[in-house]
Amino acid sequence: MRRPISVHLRLDPICCEGRGYCWELLPELISQDDWGFPIVSRVEVPPHLLDAAREVVRVCPKLALRLEKRSPM
Ligand code: SF4
Repeated sequence: MRRPISVHLRLDPICCEGRGYCWELLPELISQDDWGFPIVSRVEVPPHLLDAAREVVRVCPKLALRLEKRSPM
């Protein structure tokens, strides 16, 4: 039996230069702090947002976002 895998969006704060538009593309999972930097939700990316999450990873100009797959322990 295959174990379910969850997908999570991750931010590399060192690479991120802020003031981007990722939160505009995926407001369900990314918000903006007072300085214009993204705040990425730690919850699992729900299936209906996977395509949008892949797109926001693809268009980040600093390659600061990635999708991480996790299997339960
Ligand atoms: S698009 Fe990328 S570099 Fe710009 S704020 Fe979002 S994560 Fe940071």
